[in-house]
Amino acid sequence: MSSDHPLDAAALYGRLFRAYGPQDWWPAETPLEVVVGAVLTQNTAWRNVAVAIEEVKRRGLLDLEALLGAPAASVKEAIRSSGFYNVKYERLRHVLTFLAERGGLAAAAALPGDTLRPELLAVSGVGPETADSILLYALGKPFFVVDSYTRRLLARLGHAWAQRCPYAEVQAWFTQQMPPDIAQYNEYHALIVQHSKVHCLKRPACDGCPLADACPARLPLQPQTSHDV
Ligand code: SF4
Repeated sequence: MSSDHPLDAAALYGRLFRAYGPQDWWPAETPLEVVVGAVLTQNTAWRNVAVAIEEVKRRGLLDLEALLGAPAASVKEAIRSSGFYNVKYERLRHVLTFLAERGGLAAAAALPGDTLRPELLAVSGVGPETADSILLYALGKPFFVVDSYTRRLLARLGHAWAQRCPYAEVQAWFTQQMPPDIAQYNEYHALIVQHSKVHCLKRPACDGCPLADACPARLPLQPQTSHDV
């Protein structure tokens, strides 16, 4: 494989899947937990979100009616570890109200995705990444999730445009090459996240990367020093 010809979406998926295998995403026990995680993970590391979700569970609040009915102070205290908790409380409340108005998560999941997506995007504080995460991982709709890992990886693989163009264009790069498939879209985003945590970090660890032979941005092997042994 020459790095003069960037990997297409199917080839990239194949390599990531062969390297990392099934990811069994989203890391949540229920669709509601996915929704809560998708809102709380905005601008923070997942480990902080995990602490917040555990606290929500410990307080018996991981339930749509319970979360909407609980005192604001109690919910804010539970999600404090996720940062910006006042803003996130309001966003969470907006999203949960949206779902409650549609009869709950199961009823919302029965609605067409193309109807739900624009309505969800109209909810205050919900951008396309949050909307698509909820649609794909909580409601089972085939929308491809694009995040900063996705943009960085594509750019390093020779698709420099991915760092600067709108969300919809990066998403379309995947969906125009791979037809809507809930399971595959689910797996693909999870694999990009896994790859971005194992190899394609902010400072990439290119040694042993399963994409290295197709990556123009790969770093040369670091010479071994006496400190390495
Ligand atoms: S070779 Fe390096 S920069 Fe390229 S995808 Fe792999 S880890 Fe990222």
